[in-house]
Amino acid sequence: MDLRDLYQDIILDHGQHPRNFRAQEHPSHFANGHNPLCGDRVTVYVTLEGERVKDVSFQGRGCAISQASASLMTEILKGKTLAEAEALFRGFHAKVTGGAEPATPDALADDMERLEPLTGVKSYPARVKCATLAWHAFEAALRSGATGATVKTE
Ligand code: ZN
Repeated sequence: MDLRDLYQDIILDHGQHPRNFRAQEHPSHFANGHNPLCGDRVTVYVTLEGERVKDVSFQGRGCAISQASASLMTEILKGKTLAEAEALFRGFHAKVTGGAEPATPDALADDMERLEPLTGVKSYPARVKCATLAWHAFEAALRSGATGATVKTE
């Protein structure tokens, strides 16, 4: 089997059937993300319980990569600690930009593996912003709290 085909299937599946695609009525944190280059929009809702992501969901529209990435992100971040979420974002960001990959804790190896399908975008700089939009919105949400924020990729 051609791995690239498999990865495409995962992106298409998440793009067409996004997971955790819903607003939260009272999120502890949320943020809007906008990628003007492609026109992608995502709103990421986060509910923290102490240092742990109790719930994370999103709504949005845009290209398959942006929506699939948001969907995968919510599946992966649910239940994670903030430190784990940060490590995953740094690892993912390095993978999609082709930068030096930071060491990721062994406990997160399976999650990093699940993000592999999106790393094909590193050959297409404009698509990197599609793939990272939801993650930037997640980070912006954590910084801004329940009042919300807007983050724009540049
Ligand atoms: Zn896009």
